[in-house]
Amino acid sequence: MNDVTNAKVIQGRTGPWEIVLGLEVHAQVASNAKLFSGAAVGAGAAPNTQVSLVDAAMPGMLPVINRHCVEQAIRTGLGLKAKINAWSRFDRKNYFYPDLPQGYQISQFKDPIVGEGEVIVERDDGSAFTVRIERLHLEQDAGKLLHDQDPDFTYADLNRAGTALMEIVSRPDMRTSEEAAAYVKKLRTILVYLGTCDGDMEKGNLRADVNVSVCRPGDYEKFRETGDFGHLGTRCEIKNVNSFRFIQQAIEYEARRQIEILEDGGSITQETRLFDPNKGETRSMRSKEDAMDYRYFPDPDLIPLVLDPAWIKRIEADLPELPDAKKARLQSQYGLSAYDAGVLITEQARADFYEAAAKGRDAKLVSNWVTNDLAARLTAGGIDIADSPISPAAIAELVQLIEEGVISSKIAKDVFERMWAGEGGASEIVETQGLKQVSDTGALEKIVDDLIAANPGQAEAVKEKPQAIGWFVGQVMKATGGKANPGAVNQLLKAKLGL
Ligand code: ADP
Ligand code: MG
Repeated sequence: MNDVTNAKVIQGRTGPWEIVLGLEVHAQVASNAKLFSGAAVGAGAAPNTQVSLVDAAMPGMLPVINRHCVEQAIRTGLGLKAKINAWSRFDRKNYFYPDLPQGYQISQFKDPIVGEGEVIVERDDGSAFTVRIERLHLEQDAGKLLHDQDPDFTYADLNRAGTALMEIVSRPDMRTSEEAAAYVKKLRTILVYLGTCDGDMEKGNLRADVNVSVCRPGDYEKFRETGDFGHLGTRCEIKNVNSFRFIQQAIEYEARRQIEILEDGGSITQETRLFDPNKGETRSMRSKEDAMDYRYFPDPDLIPLVLDPAWIKRIEADLPELPDAKKARLQSQYGLSAYDAGVLITEQARADFYEAAAKGRDAKLVSNWVTNDLAARLTAGGIDIADSPISPAAIAELVQLIEEGVISSKIAKDVFERMWAGEGGASEIVETQGLKQVSDTGALEKIVDDLIAANPGQAEAVKEKPQAIGWFVGQVMKATGGKANPGAVNQLLKAKLGL
């Protein structure tokens, strides 16, 4: 189902090029404590107040695995339809950095806790493709260096050191910057549904290393047939990109940079690059180490991680309904289009809101109100749908008035705005503001008679050209402040004009 032909062709001076993308997403595990210590996790604490002796790498300290973090990794693996490895192991990845007091990062190299899985991703045009997941492993985060506290010194804040991360590595299955952003969006939605990562990209709790290479048309297909990376171009890795927009900008810039070098007869050096959002460009950070440079070896302080199959089963039984399943159910249960269902499931709370409002009502109409008018208001106000000042029952009441012909869709917009402003429920507002649709023929008849009498020319024109009736309908609406029932008006006009 992977539509490998979806690559966008970029015309260069020497011919066409295509992009190949593989992502390594770092997701901070939702957990109150760190991966190997009991120190608290969370942004906002004063520097170095959430650091245990283990995190500070004091001599003789030993790491102890946090069961909850392991459970979160398993839960995530199951949500990615991935293989859970009953036997996995932690390795030391050795490198020196001032925010890494141990001098190594505890990670998983050859034997990760989660193996191959997949994520189904929707493109903007409604089509879908599959991104294959290579692996998910657990590892520690590093601390943070503070360069802006003192003109002469750099300070280290170790609050983040030792925090649990899940690194989710994709296969190079994305072909455009839009696909890469759509993948991260979908992955984020799944993690948030699972409750294994809060998905807060601004805080850096979800960030992507984006691997970019370019090749000639046809090469990628050869790679997919043979699995031979030799058909692909050399990749550069753009580190820690933490917004959907930056992911797209970084890819577009990086692909063009590589194409220019290749067209000038140069070659790409495999390296790690940084994206500068202010300049919109990537720049070299360091040449890319190969795995052997890190001298990975099994951490002798930790025994292999052996998972009880019964535990995995229990976690699986406890999984929530995930986005794909929810989308399919909304489509079949409420008769919604794939697009509408797709918009509703981007947030669990939005889907819940919808289902609470849609009971017994016109499902499509409710979906429109939730995803258009209400969503626009909430977004503008920066309000979560769970805190919506208009309840699902209130939306249902509004939709019921439309369904029963008490108000027109146009008047309903006005009623909605008044509901948002806190003027009360839909029926109450319709009552007090006198917004009921006028279907009463007696009241409408007089207006229609007067109009025809006052505009004999127009009346003659309609008899010649029936479509011109729209002019009269508009006039009646004007005269009634939009409250006339359009059906009733049309019927009356036709009768009076002899159509
Ligand atoms: P490292 O940690 O050295 O970056 P990983 O195996 O963890 O290596 O991740 C490599 C990532 O780069 C994967 O997401 C993979 O899909 C991607 N990748 C590998 N080769 C290419 C390529 N030629 N073009 C684009 N992405 C690639
Ligand atoms: Mg990596």
